[in-house]
Amino acid sequence: MKVLIVEDEKALRTPMRKFLEKRNFSVEEAEDGATALSLVATETYDCILLDLNLPEIDGITVAKKIREESHTPIIMVTARSQVYNKLEGFEAGTDDYITKPFDLNELVARIDALIRRSSTNKEVELRFGKGLLDVNKNVISIGRKEVLLSNKETALLEYFIRNKGRVISAEELLEHIWGRDVDMFSDTVKTHIKTLRSKIDPKKNLIKTIRGKGYLYE
Ligand code: CA
Repeated sequence: MKVLIVEDEKALRTPMRKFLEKRNFSVEEAEDGATALSLVATETYDCILLDLNLPEIDGITVAKKIREESHTPIIMVTARSQVYNKLEGFEAGTDDYITKPFDLNELVARIDALIRRSSTNKEVELRFGKGLLDVNKNVISIGRKEVLLSNKETALLEYFIRNKGRVISAEELLEHIWGRDVDMFSDTVKTHIKTLRSKIDPKKNLIKTIRGKGYLYE
């Protein structure tokens, strides 16, 4: 199990890491939001411990941005006074919280519970044409061949599979997969669909372009 600790205070980060490593977690650390986001973009974690009170990009913003990319369970680490931040945190998509100062055994219990919950609740394999998409691993296997997808390509494909038979506009894809911050007139969707097709659907048999309307997966 791989855990990311996002915490600016080394004096807290280090004992957390050591304790978790003793319990056989593999641990990575980020001392600010920007580092956390770049790690989350390239690595897959089973759980993220997120301090809300971070310099520069605050924890709530970090949580929202992580949620645009992944479903990885997030435990907020809050100070005693931050009651309202907890609510904001849940709205931002975090799954649990722990208040400082906390018992490290309790932290491990919460991580275990959350990982168990997320792995039993989530349907990880989705059928796509003759292939099988593993949403957690970003891999589609077609027979013995495995094709690695990016986070966004996986999210796109998952969205198509879950909305089979319905024409989906580029705007809808932008809103669901990239969030509202993206420029609505950009070529983001087109570019990602192009790379996705080149990997798994070069003949455009599965994801069809419906001129002027969007895309259709059948
Ligand atoms: Ca802090």
